[in-house]
Amino acid sequence: MTAVPFSGGWIEVVAGVMFSGKSEELMRRVRRAVIARKRVQVFKSHLDSRYAGLFAVSSHDGRSVDAIPVDSSAQIAQRIDPTAQVIAVDEAQFLDDGIVAVATSLAQRGRRVILAGLDTDFRGEPFGPMPQLMAIAETVDKLSAICVLCGAPATRTQRLIDGQPAAWNSPTIMVGGREAYEARCRACHVVRPADEGQLMLGTSDER
Ligand code: ADP
Ligand code: ZN
Repeated sequence: MTAVPFSGGWIEVVAGVMFSGKSEELMRRVRRAVIARKRVQVFKSHLDSRYAGLFAVSSHDGRSVDAIPVDSSAQIAQRIDPTAQVIAVDEAQFLDDGIVAVATSLAQRGRRVILAGLDTDFRGEPFGPMPQLMAIAETVDKLSAICVLCGAPATRTQRLIDGQPAAWNSPTIMVGGREAYEARCRACHVVRPADEGQLMLGTSDER
């Protein structure tokens, strides 16, 4: 998590379980880039309009950066400010695989690209484009949280539906809002076997 001594552009990934401090770390890096008088753009995927403006970083000289809500890598490409020197993306796991080419192209053109996201889904499996992003990045910081059951370092995101561990075949991205999430270690993480005939909700990546 030190400053990166690369010249030209590069890609940094901040990965980890829910509650591991990825957003805090992204915000810290953005704040320092603002202090360094870099032109910074922040994007946040899957951002409900209710949360717009939640991510706002201000510097002491009054400059501030708001997160731009996006649903796809194409929207990021369209909305890039050509003068931005630092491009930060939060919740990168929700983006399509096109984010790999967008991040690569920005780095090739001399930009510092910072991407934060969940490395694994509620099943403990690689989430969206995060594996590819972690592979092509110059630096990867994998953060852990604290397991709410045993206090060990937490590396898994536990999904609970009505207080019970979610089944394997529940959708990767839920639309209902009945679910809750906890940080847990590998030993305390529970995925119920797939429910037979469960009504699938939501997204295209259901199993
Ligand atoms: P992320 O973006 O990785 O989900 P955030 O940066 O939003 O994480 O939040 C991290 C903060 O969440 C921590 O600084 C801590 O205050 C709080 N927190 C809540 N639950 C936990 C937990 N189980 N383990 C660690 N931090 C937790
Ligand atoms: Zn545990």
